[in-house]
Amino acid sequence: MLQRGMNFRITPKYSVILLSQRPNAPYTDKIYPDGITLEYEGHDVTKAQSSNPKGVDQPEALPSGKLTENGKFIEAVKKHQNGAEPELVKAYEKIKDGIWSLKGYFDLIDYRIVNNGQRNVFRFILRLSEREASNFDSIQPDLAHTRLIPTQVKKEVWERDGGKCVLCEETKNLHFDHDLPFSKGGTSLSAKNIKLLCMKHNLQKSAKIE
Ligand SMILES: [Zn+2]
Repeated sequence: MLQRGMNFRITPKYSVILLSQRPNAPYTDKIYPDGITLEYEGHDVTKAQSSNPKGVDQPEALPSGKLTENGKFIEAVKKHQNGAEPELVKAYEKIKDGIWSLKGYFDLIDYRIVNNGQRNVFRFILRLSEREASNFDSIQPDLAHTRLIPTQVKKEVWERDGGKCVLCEETKNLHFDHDLPFSKGGTSLSAKNIKLLCMKHNLQKSAKIE
């Protein structure tokens, strides 16, 4: 499930997206020069739906009428534009194969449909959220600090945990997880407070504490 880039309301309080900025990534996501705005490309049809997913419009709904993840994100944008709070989106960025890093919490504020000459794709516009810390994630109340785990510490944790989730030994989609919130004395400077978790276990932990 988490292999998908877009996960609408994976918890009752937020959605999750995965960012790919590697040169050969299948989708083009970008961060604006302001440093707080993110443009995130919607998802293609599946290979079961088309033999050439990059050749057809990105889908808002399935043939049955059921909304795709694109459609759910669009619906959330429309609700926001009618006055509702924006959908809160937790974004993870792939650092390298198997290593995911929390980029931050974003408000989903807009979308547009872009035609690249061949087909229509969705581009979702997200802005770094002010709501992140206090209301939504008691594990990481100070993202400004927790995000900055020094590379040396990451390497140390990676080697100590053997490149695996410490709970299930999963080797894909790993996340550097803080045992203690920064506000309670957890620090990014020491490997002692940090362990490797797969994305599933990281999200389960967040969900429990909320
Ligand atoms: Zn795990």
